[in-house]
Amino acid sequence: MHQIWGEMFAAAYGPKDGFGLRPGEDALGLNEEERALWADAYTDPQRAVIQQKRDARRWREHQEREKERERQAWPASTAGQLLKKLGECFAEYRDCLEKDPRLVEKALEFDEMNQKIFNRMKTNMEKAHNAARCRYPKANGGTCRAPRVRGKKYCHMHEMLEEARPEKIKLPNLGDANAIHAAIAKGAQAVVDGKLEYKQASILGYYLQLALSNVGRVDFEEDGESLTTDSH
Ligand SMILES: [Zn+2]
Repeated sequence: MHQIWGEMFAAAYGPKDGFGLRPGEDALGLNEEERALWADAYTDPQRAVIQQKRDARRWREHQEREKERERQAWPASTAGQLLKKLGECFAEYRDCLEKDPRLVEKALEFDEMNQKIFNRMKTNMEKAHNAARCRYPKANGGTCRAPRVRGKKYCHMHEMLEEARPEKIKLPNLGDANAIHAAIAKGAQAVVDGKLEYKQASILGYYLQLALSNVGRVDFEEDGESLTTDSH
């Protein structure tokens, strides 16, 4: 029913991009969502906003269609076929050298230029391969090796894990009241920042209280080995 709607307004409000109407669009090029907005628009400025939204969407969709068309055409193109051949040859030659490593020497002697091109490609590929892997340390001593998030150090999962991991809070030596108060301030800040869970925070609170009530009653000896409690 929307195909017919708006036909008489198409000249005034319809799209000017020349991309034609797509399935799901009415005579003004509006999709269902834009159509609902249009029904509530009573002034031309309101309509202009919806037209802009529509045009931006249609442009985006046009680009996507073009990209898809190019993608479909690529394998049949000269470049596409050469690249495919290059990739296949590269893999085959690499396997060939792996089976008989002495061939490298021969190739360097008899066709130095092409062997050097191959070496360069192989080195670059290995570099890119290594760079694109997650370096998160695993319990067995290796690293994760999952594909890394672009521009980040780890894979998606480990990036999230790292972000969620609470930071370590470094407490001062709780030898005197000032140090304990500094620790309390740190702990409180950590709670506010969400770096400490409720349970951790209450345990920390308990220890700090304990430390505070022991100040003045505890002597830390010079060698730091033993504690003695004051008798008075
Ligand atoms: Zn990972």
